[in-house]
Amino acid sequence: MADHSSKLDIVQATAALKSLRSLRNNVGTLFHSLTEGIGLQSGQDSKESRFVAELQQQLVTVQSGVKEFEEAINNVDSVQVNLGNSGHLNQDCTPDALNLYESLVTSYRWTDNLVEYSGYATTLLSQNALKRSTLIHAKRRRIQPSSQNVPPHTIDNVINSVCRSLGDNVKIETFRPYGSSTVLQITLGKIMKGIVVLKRLMVEWVVVKGATEDLIEDGKIDMWGESRYKVFRKVTENANAAMLHFYSPAYPELAIRSFLTWFNSYQSLFTSPCKKCGHHLHNLLPPTWRDLRTLDPYHEDCKP
Ligand SMILES: [Zn+2]
Repeated sequence: MADHSSKLDIVQATAALKSLRSLRNNVGTLFHSLTEGIGLQSGQDSKESRFVAELQQQLVTVQSGVKEFEEAINNVDSVQVNLGNSGHLNQDCTPDALNLYESLVTSYRWTDNLVEYSGYATTLLSQNALKRSTLIHAKRRRIQPSSQNVPPHTIDNVINSVCRSLGDNVKIETFRPYGSSTVLQITLGKIMKGIVVLKRLMVEWVVVKGATEDLIEDGKIDMWGESRYKVFRKVTENANAAMLHFYSPAYPELAIRSFLTWFNSYQSLFTSPCKKCGHHLHNLLPPTWRDLRTLDPYHEDCKP
């Protein structure tokens, strides 16, 4: 469909360009006649009248050319998307801006098609009773209030109680650098440390780095930087997977407790052998995965 309309566009635009070219030609001839005259050798009167007649004819040609061009332009406009002020981008002669205009038109077409298709989809879906998904929606709506608007001191209390239950080797500090979101800095002895970003009580983001690496850069917590070491990049990956596994808006306290307990099991990252193969190293890495239920250590390739 998009293909069809763009082909139509090209045909219309070519026609418009063609009529513009012929209009310019005719105007050129007209001005040429005006400046140079129409080289006639006969008497003065007939020369003048021939000149006027010829000029009139050329003016008529120009006039009809203008009309033709106007029509062609209108045709092009009717298939164009309305881009508002951004439409002037195509008059910018820098090559960068030209590309921008083209992608703008393409994306507008995409959006138009999307709106059209989603309209069809809505009609089709509304004809089928989707009881299952309605049920899930109802459940979600009921669950929401318990995980919303958790005051900071409640979060602190939960974190402190989890921290106490995990033993002395784990240290959890809380920050709120961006207002309401809580950021936890967790240090597991001399093994590793991590940044955990919470939204209310739900874990949103985890970064793990080595004990010697910096989590704070230029006075700010570095949430996006990766560890230099492959082992901690792997743990970061697994921690993000675990975060999704433990996600539970119905029981946010249990979810954060389970996640932190799982995270704390990395105390034995370099000391526990793999539960399956019994080795410490595999592919030069220690067991970087912890079972989500039993917390047993496994290599990436030995996961149950
Ligand atoms: Zn193994």
